[in-house]
Amino acid sequence: MIREIKSFSIEELQTQFKEWEQPAYRLTQLLDWVYKRRVTSWDAMTNLPKALRDLLKEKFSLVALELVRKQGSRDTTQKFLWKLSDGAFIESVLIPATAALYGEASDRHTLCVSTQVGCAYGCKFCASGLEGWKRNLRPEEIVEQVLATERWNETEAKSPNPNAKADSDTRLVNNLVIMGMGEPLANYDNLMKALKTLNAPWGGGIGARKITISTSGLAPQIKKLAEEPLQFRLAISLHGATDDTRNKIMPVNKKFPLRELTAACEYYQEKKGRMITLEYILIAGVNDRLDQITPLAQLARRLHAKVNLIPYNKVEDLPWARPTEEVQEKFLAALEREKVTATLRREKGHDIDAACGQLRLKTERALTKAAK
Ligand code: SAH
Ligand code: SF4
Repeated sequence: MIREIKSFSIEELQTQFKEWEQPAYRLTQLLDWVYKRRVTSWDAMTNLPKALRDLLKEKFSLVALELVRKQGSRDTTQKFLWKLSDGAFIESVLIPATAALYGEASDRHTLCVSTQVGCAYGCKFCASGLEGWKRNLRPEEIVEQVLATERWNETEAKSPNPNAKADSDTRLVNNLVIMGMGEPLANYDNLMKALKTLNAPWGGGIGARKITISTSGLAPQIKKLAEEPLQFRLAISLHGATDDTRNKIMPVNKKFPLRELTAACEYYQEKKGRMITLEYILIAGVNDRLDQITPLAQLARRLHAKVNLIPYNKVEDLPWARPTEEVQEKFLAALEREKVTATLRREKGHDIDAACGQLRLKTERALTKAAK
C-alpha cells in the first residue's frame, strides 16, 4: 500500500534515502518542499532530479486537505472545514495573533486542530460527540491541518510580506491547541507521531511548550504523556469540581473519577512542572453555582494549575445555555478570592472557536438532507 509521505519520521525517510543511495542533502530538500513550501505535487519540487521524483511518486502519496467551507473574517477567528480523502469532514480554527490563550504571548497565530472524526466520549454539552465516533485521524491528517491552513493563508489571502523567506517567515502558526473535534488522548500514537513532526525543526517548527493538548480526562494516557520527552502543555476539560457535577455532563468521569484524574494530573505536574490548565465551561444552572468554588480552588492549588473560565457556546438542538455575565463575573471573583489564577474569556470574537464540531455537524446534516 502506498503511504503518505507526511506519516513518515525523518529516521524512516533517512533509511529509505540510504536504500536509494541518495545523498543526505536530497532529503533536506524534500522536507523543505513538503513542510516549508508546502507544495502539493511532486513535480513542483524542481531542484530534485526527475529520477528521484519518479521514485518518490511510486513509493509515497502527497495528499492535501480540501477546503470546503470557511467561516469568519481575516482579522478575527476563522473556522476551516476540511474534507478528507474518504469524504469525512473535520474542522480547524485559526485564532489571530493578539490573544495568547495558552502558552506565551504570540506574534503569530494559534491553530486549533482536530484529532478524530466525531468523538466517542459523548459529553452532554458538546457538538463533536453528537453523532458518535467515526474514526481516528492519521498522523498526516493532523499535520496537514497546519500545512493546509498556511497554504490557504499564502495563496488565498496573500502573505503580508511577499518577499518573505520560505524557511520561516511564511509560517503562520506558532501555537497549537489540540482542542478540535475528538479526544486527542484516545488517538495517542497518531497524535504523538504528528506532534513530533510539527515540533521538529525540519517539520512544523512549533515549540513543544507552544503545543497544548486538551483532554476530557483519560487518566492512564495522561500518565503516559508525562513520560514523553517533549514538554507539552496539558489542558484538562474539568467543567465540574465534584464527581456529582462532572457525572451529570461527562460520562468519562464514571470511568476515571476525579480522584483518579487528579492523581494522574499530579503525576504530570511533578514530571513536567507548571504545565496544567483547568478548563471550566460555565453552563447555566449546571456548574455555575458557588458550591463549586472551594473544591475547584483546592484542585487548582494542588496541581499548581490556572483556571480558564469559558462561557458556554450554544449548540443547536442542545438545551444548555451560558450564564449571565453577572454570574460569570461572580464565579471569577470568588475564585480569585481563593488566590487561584483564573481568567474569564470575554471576547466576543472567540465565540466560534470553542464550539468545534458545529460547522461539520451543520454541513453533514445539510448534505444528508440534500441526498434524501
Ligand atoms: N476532547 C478534548 C478536546 C476537544 S474539546 C476535550 O474534551 O478536552 C475542546 C474543548 O472545548 C473542551 O474543553 C470542551 O469541553 C470544550 N467545548 C465543547 N463544546 C463546547 C461548547 N459548546 N462551548 C464551549 N466549550 C465547549
Ligand atoms: Fe469529545 Fe471533548 Fe466533546 Fe467531550 S468535549 S464529546 S471529549 S470532543
